[in-house]
Amino acid sequence: MKLLSIVVPCYNEEEVLPLFYDKITEVMNSMTQEYPDLTYEVVFVDDGSKDKTLEGFRKYAAMDDHIRYISFSRNFGKESGMFAGLQASKGDYVVVMDADLQHPPEFLPKMYKYVSSGEYDCATTRRVSRDGESKVRSWFARKFYKIMNKISQTEIVDGAQDFRFMTRQMVDSVLSLTEYNRFSKGIFSWVGFRVKYIEYHNVERAAGTTAWSFWKLFLYSLEGIVAFSTAPLAIASVLGVISCIIAFIMAIVVVIKTLAFGEPVAGFPTTACLILLLGGLQLFTIGILGQYLAKTYMECKKRPIYLVRETEEFVRDKNNN
Ligand code: UDP
Ligand code: MG
Repeated sequence: MKLLSIVVPCYNEEEVLPLFYDKITEVMNSMTQEYPDLTYEVVFVDDGSKDKTLEGFRKYAAMDDHIRYISFSRNFGKESGMFAGLQASKGDYVVVMDADLQHPPEFLPKMYKYVSSGEYDCATTRRVSRDGESKVRSWFARKFYKIMNKISQTEIVDGAQDFRFMTRQMVDSVLSLTEYNRFSKGIFSWVGFRVKYIEYHNVERAAGTTAWSFWKLFLYSLEGIVAFSTAPLAIASVLGVISCIIAFIMAIVVVIKTLAFGEPVAGFPTTACLILLLGGLQLFTIGILGQYLAKTYMECKKRPIYLVRETEEFVRDKNNN
């Protein structure tokens, strides 16, 4: 028998949860019929939801043995949710997907075919359009991928998503990266393996609202840059060298000018501008250093990536007593 684990991080998803549950059950029923040696488990991760998401998990876990869940002690973010789900998963194959049906479960049979044939270790979808997304957001997203791929050795494919069907081997590799600052788009690509990209057009959320504001996404992209590239540190040094060269040339010019024409008292505005410019550059580069230092600081505290408050054992115990 082969086990497929479906990992679903959820944060305030009470509205889509029933839709998701019905859909995934339907798709998996037809899949297990087609492949009699296949079974599945769904590992829901409740990322400290403030609505009735956890109640939903309890209900489904009580009536359906395929359903497992982990509930966090607070909101730790989607990255932590995925990590926890991957750790808890027991399957020979594992797929990570969103609860909002933006990652259509209809793709699962196709992904299973690619990966179980042994030709690929991972199947994932790639958005070729960003329909239903604001223009500004798409523009920033595209720029992010461009910059990221210029300054980092780890290639991050534009439009690639966290909808990933993986072998146990690849999941274990992903789990072996235990860093605290998790940028999974980078991590998935860093571990390598043979990846099949399935192209598809963007689907809108089935219900509820996105938890990602523009600002949150922007900070997340900075996180990605700091986590997978040290180029900004090099930029800091290059800027320093450039201003030194400019200062040196200016010094020579000033000496020659003074020797040739004498020194009338002037140039106050120039001085003020230079002080501002250099002060700005220094603050900017110290800021970059600070970013890396902050990450190192968080990393060396070795805090757990998530804390669990409750799992499906809670419901199962209740059922048995
Ligand atoms: N999510 C999460 N923790 C968070 C934010 C989001 O587990 O702090 C989950 C959310 O429930 C969903 C997935 O991550 O299943 C993707 O979130 P969302 O649909 O809000 O993001 P988008 O599709 O807009 O990128
Ligand atoms: Mg979504």
